[in-house]
Amino acid sequence: MRLIFLGAPGAGKGTQAEALAAAQNIPHISTGDILRQAVTEQSPLGLQAKSYMDKGELVPDDLIMGLIKERLGQVDAQQGWILDGFPRNLDQAQELNKLLQQMNQTYDKVVYFEVSKEALVTRMLERGRKDDNEATVSRRLDVYQEQTVPLIKLYRDVNSLLVVDGNADVATVSNSLREALEAK
Ligand code: AMP
Repeated sequence: MRLIFLGAPGAGKGTQAEALAAAQNIPHISTGDILRQAVTEQSPLGLQAKSYMDKGELVPDDLIMGLIKERLGQVDAQQGWILDGFPRNLDQAQELNKLLQQMNQTYDKVVYFEVSKEALVTRMLERGRKDDNEATVSRRLDVYQEQTVPLIKLYRDVNSLLVVDGNADVATVSNSLREALEAK
């Protein structure tokens, strides 16, 4: 199973991705998690990414594509994966298509978690991550709107999009996700 999880910051896609990946025994690949780890380790990637993350901006595509190429090439990613937080703009989506083609792979579906703006802000402020302060949250939502939302149409147009109502509690969303995947 190869899935792309799409949704605003705070949509709950990380929680859902983690649970489904564990159940399917495939890796949950979160570019945000990989970047946060790199920042903690102060690796070259982390040092380059930090200032963008602190401002709520996207990290440059070449850094992201480098880390995705490496991660998708690892042995545990050969039988499937869930991508969470990537792709984040049209260029990344195009680069991912190219990369998958080179690897003779393809994604099965893109799952879009639809959540109201009020719920997003509340969830992000409750989560209390370092980049979850009010200014950064607002910037990340704008960046999402400008750069990531166009991906919804892109994937809908190629008939790859599954929409899941992400407003409810974790268990309910998890049921909706399972039903959507079964019906696909
Ligand atoms: P996330 O945990 O997915 O919300 O990501 C946290 C931060 O990492 C984002 O605000 C971006 O600065 C950066 N980031 C994560 N994934 C990407 C991506 N695919 N492209 C660019 N920046 C990313």
